[in-house]
Amino acid sequence: MYEFNYHQAASLDDAAKLLGNEDAKLVAGGMTLIPTLKQRLAKPSDLVDLGPLAALKGIREEGGGVTIGAMTRHVEVHRSDVVKRVIPALAALAGMIGDPAVRNRGTIGGSIANNDPAADYPSAVLGLGATVVTARREIPGDDFFTGMFETALEPDEIVTAVKFPKPQAAAYQKFKNPASRYAIVGVFVARTGSGVRVAVTGAGPCVFRVPEMEAALGKSFSPDAIKDIAIPEDGLNSDIHASAEYRAHLVNVMARRAVAGCG
Ligand SMILES: Cc1cc2nc3c(=O)[nH]c(=O)nc-3n(C[C@H](O)[C@H](O)[C@H](O)COP(=O)(O)OP(=O)(O)OC[C@H]3O[C@@H](n4cnc5c(N)ncnc54)[C@H](O)[C@@H]3O)c2cc1C
Repeated sequence: MYEFNYHQAASLDDAAKLLGNEDAKLVAGGMTLIPTLKQRLAKPSDLVDLGPLAALKGIREEGGGVTIGAMTRHVEVHRSDVVKRVIPALAALAGMIGDPAVRNRGTIGGSIANNDPAADYPSAVLGLGATVVTARREIPGDDFFTGMFETALEPDEIVTAVKFPKPQAAAYQKFKNPASRYAIVGVFVARTGSGVRVAVTGAGPCVFRVPEMEAALGKSFSPDAIKDIAIPEDGLNSDIHASAEYRAHLVNVMARRAVAGCG
């Protein structure tokens, strides 16, 4: 680990000011950032800890949906009575992230800001048509994830919350890496007032929607409606865990399971 200055943010304004320091970085749960620092893959001048900011924590029912503060930990989303009642698929997804240590430290804000290609939350943000709230604006989920580890966030922009609308029904199915529990392929399916949404994580460099499946499910919401929709393997991830061909196959399998799970 290289040396850096450590700051505890006193307020959002204070955090934004500290982020102005040369090569400063935010730290939330540290589950991704700290291992990166330990491996000397990053050399921030300053770490700005969002931990003290109570305003960024918590879950509330709002506008018929659920708003989750950026510093809310995965375990809190998983155990929340509000999330279980309003969007049970989201509570279930949070419970599938990593292991107990990761779920007790990792935060939703850190997860979506990091946008790991195999992370779970990006599929819920995209699949539910959620809105990412930052200290300066609101970003539609459809515009938030822009590429591998890339988002629409400006370098000094802080995620404060995510607003999830309540779907008519939703489910998440994940084929996990047995060691890390990251998604080799995860598919989030939601029936909403404005149509069906299908979002895939783990398969490609960035979470993506599958318009052909969405259209077919819009006509007939059943696993059979998408059984013949093949995902092209071109551009999908291929590594020691799974080939692109296998991932393409898994997208269809996980999507059908998710549709069946929507009840
Ligand atoms: C062993 C292991 C297994 C894991 N398995 C899974 C899994 O199965 N599924 C899954 O989805 N994830 C998994 N993760 C990742 C985990 O969910 C992390 O919690 C998450 O990626 C990052 O969240 P964090 O709060 O720890 O962020 P940090 O590590 O603190 O930060 C990550 C990045 O986000 C930035 N950031 C943090 N908060 C904000 C904010 N509010 N606004 C703007 N930028 C911000 C930081 O500057 C940093 O660049 C795993 C991690 C580990 C170590």
